[in-house]
Amino acid sequence: MSESSSIPIRAETTFGANSFVPAEEIKIAGLTPFTSIDYPGKLSAVAFLQGCPWQCVYCHNTWMQSREFHPDYRHSSWEELAKLLSRRRGLLDAVVFSGGEPCLDPALADAMRRVKEEFGMAVGLHTSGAYPRRLAEVIDLVDWVGLDVKANPENAAAFDAVTGRKGSAEAFKESFEIVRRSGKDYEARTTAHPDYLPEEELLALTAWLAERGASTYALQIYRTPPQATPRFARVGSDYPSQATVDALRARFPRFTVRREGE
Ligand code: SF4
Repeated sequence: MSESSSIPIRAETTFGANSFVPAEEIKIAGLTPFTSIDYPGKLSAVAFLQGCPWQCVYCHNTWMQSREFHPDYRHSSWEELAKLLSRRRGLLDAVVFSGGEPCLDPALADAMRRVKEEFGMAVGLHTSGAYPRRLAEVIDLVDWVGLDVKANPENAAAFDAVTGRKGSAEAFKESFEIVRRSGKDYEARTTAHPDYLPEEELLALTAWLAERGASTYALQIYRTPPQATPRFARVGSDYPSQATVDALRARFPRFTVRREGE
């Protein structure tokens, strides 16, 4: 595990009535025009927003952590997304805002509102919960949430060791409560590697979720990045053990294990 940085989570930019930021200013690093796997049961487009305050040990998209677009990659824009949605009206059900961390972007609310009002599509949100205040501001516009749970929320040191940022567990817990209280449909999901999520911590994490009424949970076994030098050993098929998988399955009405190649 890497040491947690002492850099605090960046303050959120508020955007109430006096700080409206239009959808045209949203920073879209890239678009997936059509997918059936990023929003359960819906055909969706995915907009990956540029910027993330965390530096997860396993991040596959480190170039997306900076708020600045990467000079070597072509980025996208609201205009491009709007054109895509116009062309695919009637074919797409939803737009998923992903990242990076989409709640970093002050134009997120207006973009979500316009997806609903101008294109009549549902809105999905992939978030790690780093920005609870912005999440609270947009949650009414969201129809479904994919919520990353990086580690056991009650083990702040372990949580921060995964995210590389102090205070990340507290931010996550606040965000979790916002999602839970909203009553919106959500999937909690964890990317897991035995080096930083031993089975007892995985059991503690899932017990925490189950005690709070989470009904859908996906365990995503760490996937070796396709190009970069792997930072961790490939995860063996014995992690987690069958007993742990069985315990997890018993905790959630809907439970999935996603492994590399599946
Ligand atoms: S939250 Fe996601 S985008 Fe941000 S560092 Fe972690 S894995 Fe990467």
